[in-house]
Amino acid sequence: MPELPEVEVVRAGLEPAVAGATVTRVEVLDERSLRRHLGPAEDFIERLTGSVLTTPERRGKFLWIPLAHPMAGEGPKAVVVHLGMSGQVLLRERAAPRSRLTRVVLEIEHPEHGPLRVDFVDQRIFGSMALDQLVATRDDPAQLVPSQVAHIARDPLDPRFDDRAFLRALAAKQTTIKRALLDQTLISGIGNIYADESLWAARVHYDQPTATLSRARATTLLAEVRLVLARALAEGGTSFDAQYVNVNGASGYFSHSLNAYGQQGEPCPRCGRPIVRESFMNRGSHFCPYCQRIRASR
Ligand SMILES: [Zn+2]
Repeated sequence: MPELPEVEVVRAGLEPAVAGATVTRVEVLDERSLRRHLGPAEDFIERLTGSVLTTPERRGKFLWIPLAHPMAGEGPKAVVVHLGMSGQVLLRERAAPRSRLTRVVLEIEHPEHGPLRVDFVDQRIFGSMALDQLVATRDDPAQLVPSQVAHIARDPLDPRFDDRAFLRALAAKQTTIKRALLDQTLISGIGNIYADESLWAARVHYDQPTATLSRARATTLLAEVRLVLARALAEGGTSFDAQYVNVNGASGYFSHSLNAYGQQGEPCPRCGRPIVRESFMNRGSHFCPYCQRIRASR
């Protein structure tokens, strides 16, 4: 499942091709992929056709492309892309063959790169595209985000992420640490893979109550979250160019450097004891029972 690094790879890959491009034609092959769009497919097609796209933005796992020049009497809008479990955004030459899992196609015309095609491909259809209003973000009225993203916290790679506020909120929460890391209203962009990797790196047990996690360990954990995300981003960032954008989810580019996620039965790279997998929120938590123990108090 795509997490922050995979979505950022898509955003950065799309940027040179879509910023300044005009949408010349929209084709909806599967209306289920528009279920987060308020209104029928015709509305999506009509409003988007002729629009000029600007620089793609991202918060957590959400990606959106603001539209230039809002229509008269309407506020600013953006095309929001949610990749869900298996969504991909593929940038193609106009005449290139299509995947049979293509759900939405945007034909675009870029002043420099000419005619291109943006294909939204989604096997399991948990992802979506939508046109959405841009609204003020919670902590800065001048910064706009789609209304679907307004409840999402800043992600830890956002220069304006507030470390002190996050650590305070974490200590005040009645929950366990991995649930908190996956809570997109507290910190966004982290899913199962990078949660397990960061917890392993910081030697924190996934079920450690946040109220008993020491400030020092929470600070270390936040630093490890950033390191893990930045490393994954650096590795993913080398596998695409402006003509081809791809997201591969869990089995993607980062898989060869995983220390805990999916490594059950393998030796812990730190202590050599086997990594264990336990059921967690319908998925799994992967950790080293020796390096990552629940600690009694702060
Ligand atoms: Zn270990």
